[in-house]
Amino acid sequence: MLENLLKEVISLVAGKQAEEIVDLLDTQKYVNEFVIAKKLNLTINQTRNILYKISDYGLVSSIRKKDKRKGWYTYFWKIEIVKTLDFLKENLLKKIDTAEHYIKSRETKRFYVCERCHIELSEENALLNNFTCTECGSLLVLKDNIKVLKDLRKNKEKLEKDLALVEEEITKERGKEDKKRGKEARKEEKIKFKAKLKLKKSRMKAKKMEHHPEKSKNKKVKHSKKSHVKK
Ligand SMILES: [Zn+2]
Repeated sequence: MLENLLKEVISLVAGKQAEEIVDLLDTQKYVNEFVIAKKLNLTINQTRNILYKISDYGLVSSIRKKDKRKGWYTYFWKIEIVKTLDFLKENLLKKIDTAEHYIKSRETKRFYVCERCHIELSEENALLNNFTCTECGSLLVLKDNIKVLKDLRKNKEKLEKDLALVEEEITKERGKEDKKRGKEARKEEKIKFKAKLKLKKSRMKAKKMEHHPEKSKNKKVKHSKKSHVKK
């Protein structure tokens, strides 16, 4: 499901032949572009061209690493899943908007059609042409909008279903991202906490030494003994 949605977007921005790249790009780690090229059976330049096109829309991100021996850069790519789904969502919203516009137009306006050429004219244009076809001169007839409206509404319903699916996936993926970020934040907090604890312990130790100078003296003696042995 998710894979198909991602492929749909990649196909929209980089062409149908590029959609295979979705199978090779990971959502978590960055993938070496040479590996992608090899698996797609494309040259590195062809592969980069596809990736640059997708990256223009912010749907992939990359990091680069310098090859110390050869001195050139290799790019590693990752698909930005939420951004890609957001792109699809925007696209669907636009389509729904257009569909609504067409429906409204069919509900409120009259259209005329030439039954021979299947050319359709708005009422204004039909009037300008004395209700005759601009191609063959046949008399135009009033178009029955009922069937057209049925199809338009069906199409709009399908788009809305698709939109609901995409929104569901976005929620899922956002949740995953938040979880991951939370995990990372907790990990960082743990590290900070441990560092604080260590500092506290060493401070307490230092205080103890101040209170019991004997102990510290002993230690010093021990130390010097040890170092003496080592020599
Ligand atoms: Zn005609």
